[in-house]
Amino acid sequence: MKAIAVHPGKAGSIHLREIDEPKVTDVDHDRGVLVKVIRVGVDGTDKEINAAEYGAAPPGDDFLVTGHESFGQVVEVGNKVTEVKPGDYVSCTVRRPGGSLFDVIGRTDITSEETYYERGINLCHGFLTETFLDDAEYVVRVPRDLKHLGVLSEPASVCAKAIEQAYLAQQRLQVWRPRLAYVMGAGQIGLLATMMLRLRGLEVHTLATRTGPHLKSEIAKAYGASYVSTRETSLADLVRRTGRPDIIFEATGSAEVCFRSMEVLGLNGALIWTSITGGKQDVTFDGAKINLEWVLGNKLLVSSVNGNRHHFELGLQALSHGELTFPGVTRRILTHPVAGLDRYEEMMRLLEDKEALKVYVDIAG
Ligand code: BGC
Ligand code: ZN
Repeated sequence: MKAIAVHPGKAGSIHLREIDEPKVTDVDHDRGVLVKVIRVGVDGTDKEINAAEYGAAPPGDDFLVTGHESFGQVVEVGNKVTEVKPGDYVSCTVRRPGGSLFDVIGRTDITSEETYYERGINLCHGFLTETFLDDAEYVVRVPRDLKHLGVLSEPASVCAKAIEQAYLAQQRLQVWRPRLAYVMGAGQIGLLATMMLRLRGLEVHTLATRTGPHLKSEIAKAYGASYVSTRETSLADLVRRTGRPDIIFEATGSAEVCFRSMEVLGLNGALIWTSITGGKQDVTFDGAKINLEWVLGNKLLVSSVNGNRHHFELGLQALSHGELTFPGVTRRILTHPVAGLDRYEEMMRLLEDKEALKVYVDIAG
């Protein structure tokens, strides 16, 4: 079968290749789930992998099948699988366990080992192919009526985890009723976070550079948030208008914004960092002032990456709740379809497009 792969460490090596089709019996203890791939989303991580900044091949191979945002339909299950059945729509988690205690208890997303195993990213093949196989442990059912948003399961899990982590950590305060949130960035993660924070009843301001109206500002508004172009309104001006936010969800990919966010967080607030900032970027700020304000204000920084099956379930619940609350809005994130695995070059090109909110490959109907 066809697969999109790279030679990790070799920039621009993305290519189409033939790989063997997996068999449901390849998974131990009759717990295999064989999935026909319908759609796979791509993001900045795939760009970095093809730029050889990131990613490693599984031991013994000189290539890595890419793609970590999966959506498909079950075709066959092992005898001991009760959670899903043929015909069900599913997504699949990304991380696989290492050896730490966290890995053993199913919290691979917070492994305490340096090496992490991620399908389509690091040391495990991904989903940009025609069929994939995994242990039922990692396969998450997508409601049938949500199949049009199924390819957002993985990004939604990342947002849902980050927000849940902040709320869990804020139990330190005994009572926390956040009212005001800023979301930094209006890419797919920023917009999904906007939706999830609106579903929790917060007043949300979603900040990005470009002046609206455009698709991003329209989606943010349709979720009931305000869209703020930092070209028109500076962060300081916004704070003067709204007061300091209780939550800042950072998803711009810019180290500058990560640290500027520290300057405006409210007392007892939580700053959530989700950006994976590549390369090197110096940022200048008054460290003494930030430290003083953070100590005197009991402020919290929560960093979050990846998501386990619980977070996929939370993400899917939020997507479902969002669809009922803001009907038809989330599908507008799905801006750039690519027709089939053969078009991998177009897929990479579209990832450079500033207008693209979500690039995804349609593999089967
Ligand atoms: C993925 C996460 C992954 C992270 C680090 C992100 O693009 O969505 O699942 O943990 O990259 O590799
Ligand atoms: Zn990703």
